[in-house]
Amino acid sequence: MGTLRQQIIALISEQPMDIVALSQALGIREKETIAHLPHIAKSIAGRGGRLKVHPAHCDACGYAFKDRRRLSPPSRCPKCKLARVLGPWYEIEH
Ligand SMILES: [Zn+2]
Repeated sequence: MGTLRQQIIALISEQPMDIVALSQALGIREKETIAHLPHIAKSIAGRGGRLKVHPAHCDACGYAFKDRRRLSPPSRCPKCKLARVLGPWYEIEH
């Protein structure tokens, strides 16, 4: 598990990535990638860094999920109710 988290940290230290891209890069399910995020946020914070979340937005109506506190991606848009949400994108800030 540690190795997988280190891989995620290495990937998003270089560029912001969303859950779909991360899961594909690691060859694991999206649910599994999401489960690692809180642990990654904690370990990065312990090293003086930050897991930055670039807000998700709706591809259909443009709604931006700016105030979302949860790390997991929203499944559908609260405004137009469609499941066409892009992002969020995760990045490590050192
Ligand atoms: Zn929408």
